[in-house]
Amino acid sequence: MKRLIPILILLIFHINCSPKQKQNVSNYDIVRRQMVEEQIVTRGIKDSNVIKAMLKVERHKFVPREYERYAYTDGPLPIGEDQTISQPYIVALMTEVLQLKGGEKVLEIGTGSGYQAAILSFIAKEVYTIEIIPSLAKSAQKTLESLGYKNVYVRCGDGFLGWSEKAPFDGIIITCAAPRVPEPLVEQLAEGGRIVMPEGDEFQMLVLYKKIKGRLEKQELIPVRFVPMKGMIREK
Ligand code: SAH
Repeated sequence: MKRLIPILILLIFHINCSPKQKQNVSNYDIVRRQMVEEQIVTRGIKDSNVIKAMLKVERHKFVPREYERYAYTDGPLPIGEDQTISQPYIVALMTEVLQLKGGEKVLEIGTGSGYQAAILSFIAKEVYTIEIIPSLAKSAQKTLESLGYKNVYVRCGDGFLGWSEKAPFDGIIITCAAPRVPEPLVEQLAEGGRIVMPEGDEFQMLVLYKKIKGRLEKQELIPVRFVPMKGMIREK
């Protein structure tokens, strides 16, 4: 009995303390799970890899401190420089329509916070992402690095030109609105590959392109609202 008492005290201490200690860590896990159930699964996202990635990536680590507690709400959030991190459902939908199975090389235009790239990194083999605003490219790179994402490569530049050294890409995701697909990206898309993007200016439609026999086939998905693509796309 004498031996049992310290063990019992330890046990009671453990039961009392550990849930409290863990609470701060797991609160966001709980709201993230709710976000996935209520905003992602209920609205029809079925790809289990997409669902798993949305459960894993800690969205609250990709938003500015002052918005951390809104990280799992149903909408976009400011990330500085007048840019936004997309609504979780739109991130999930754009990822799902790329139909990734693992092993693919994906290009993202518009790194922003790095959140969409992090989601892709759980599903694709390699993720290349380009951001035109230097401060955002830098902070996204820092966030991704500190969280241990090893297969995401960030570059600062105009995504219009793509990343020709790493082409062809199996999937291209554009997270800023453009009036058309930047021409170099068509070249850099593999045969059978897919491009998802918000197309338009004032009025935007999320569209999916498939490259079949060298030509793009277009499918319209849903109306959306994204920040505009800057740079060379506006020149011609
Ligand atoms: N995918 C991001 C959200 C992107 S917001 C995330 O998960 O957080 C759109 C981003 O596209 C902005 O950061 C904007 O600066 C960037 N952008 C706009 N035009 C661009 C261009 N020509 N090339 C690369 N990035 C561009």
